[in-house]
Amino acid sequence: MISSNTYDVLVVGGGLAGASTAYALAQRSLKVLLCESEPRLASKASGNAWALLMPYVATQSSPPGRLYAKGFNFTHNLLTSTFEGLVSYHEVGAIQLPATKRLSRILTETVPFVGNSPIRRVSAQEGSDRAGVTLLTASFFIPQAGYCKPARIAEHLATSFPSHISISLGRSIEDLRWIDSKWSALFNDGSANSFTNVVLCGAHDIQKLPLTSWVPLEAIRGQTTQTVMTPSSSGLRTVISYDGYITPQQEGLHFIGAHYRHDDFDTEPKDLDTQEILARLYRTLPDISDLKVASSRVCFRASTHDRMPYIGALPNNDGPNLFINAGHGSRGLLTAPLGGEIIARLIGGQPLDNLSEAAGICSSGRLSTRMTRLIPPS
Ligand SMILES: Cc1cc2nc3c(=O)[nH]c(=O)nc-3n(C[C@H](O)[C@H](O)[C@H](O)COP(=O)(O)OP(=O)(O)OC[C@H]3O[C@@H](n4cnc5c(N)ncnc54)[C@H](O)[C@@H]3O)c2cc1C
Repeated sequence: MISSNTYDVLVVGGGLAGASTAYALAQRSLKVLLCESEPRLASKASGNAWALLMPYVATQSSPPGRLYAKGFNFTHNLLTSTFEGLVSYHEVGAIQLPATKRLSRILTETVPFVGNSPIRRVSAQEGSDRAGVTLLTASFFIPQAGYCKPARIAEHLATSFPSHISISLGRSIEDLRWIDSKWSALFNDGSANSFTNVVLCGAHDIQKLPLTSWVPLEAIRGQTTQTVMTPSSSGLRTVISYDGYITPQQEGLHFIGAHYRHDDFDTEPKDLDTQEILARLYRTLPDISDLKVASSRVCFRASTHDRMPYIGALPNNDGPNLFINAGHGSRGLLTAPLGGEIIARLIGGQPLDNLSEAAGICSSGRLSTRMTRLIPPS
């Protein structure tokens, strides 16, 4: 039984965003109930076997570039300093191939920008030497990039302050109502409890709550594949990002992603999609062929109308202290932990300081104009 007086904050959703938010709140001695509808934390988008921590290659002038650089540094510091040795971050470096027109232009014309992290243009030969497989073109080399297990990070974040974070698994929030100056949360087992602050970290499932069904979040299907290492792939030493990505082997398996599909809600992996993922890889890395698929997995990214996450106070007609940390798309490792820190500063009444620009770019205030259009006045 949960007492309404026990918690300062209800965090809805136990993926990377929810676990990061709970962690940042607990760092400020706030008591948190972290509620996850699945039996395990991080079992949806945050449950892939591996995820890349990979900065976004941009030009210095771009707001997304500065946001993602801040997010990369924040998460990199978390993994290599705060959680050093506790979560396995394989900082093997990444080769970013110029797979889009935008990247080709930056490769040839402008100064690449990934914030404070080093980045270098490398020739096809130097890239091949670093990667351990033949590359056909020049590329960027980013030494601080790498890959990690997102679920392990979420679990570590959520369990770091057991005296301040209570985890409720297998229970979902079905409804939120502003009653007697508090948010009353209705659980799927029929119980209800009230909270002063609520943070919605449920990705696109936020739309299932009647109060927030209007929030524009799109579920985009992604399929990933693990393949058994072969002699042709065993030399791979860095992550390679192209119009897909591959990691070096861990325990004899490579992780290869990721399919990106709108309007497809099939939760089962499809052979055709696996073939497409592998075809892209074979086209890019001619040394590698005939990989044997060990397993495939489907999950869904929550994407927003402008691709930036929603982080901050959520405009609504009912009550204050409702927050959102969601819509992290394909770059959750860059933005979800940063989002947790921003939310915790807002709830804790602290200045945003060095995170002001990032908070502005992700501000959920940009939803307010949409809200007035989508919700009829009561
Ligand atoms: C195929 C694929 C590959 C990706 N690869 C990378 C990568 O390499 N690098 C990277 O940075 N990012 C990557 N991403 C993106 C990253 O995985 C996501 O951005 C991140 O996991 C989102 O975290 P989240 O907590 O917002 O969402 P989720 O992990 O989906 O968590 C939301 C949680 O909320 C719970 N929930 C929802 N509603 C309720 C409710 N009412 N009550 C209780 N619980 C609720 C859900 O059960 C779920 O567990 C990838 C995404 C996909 C799909």
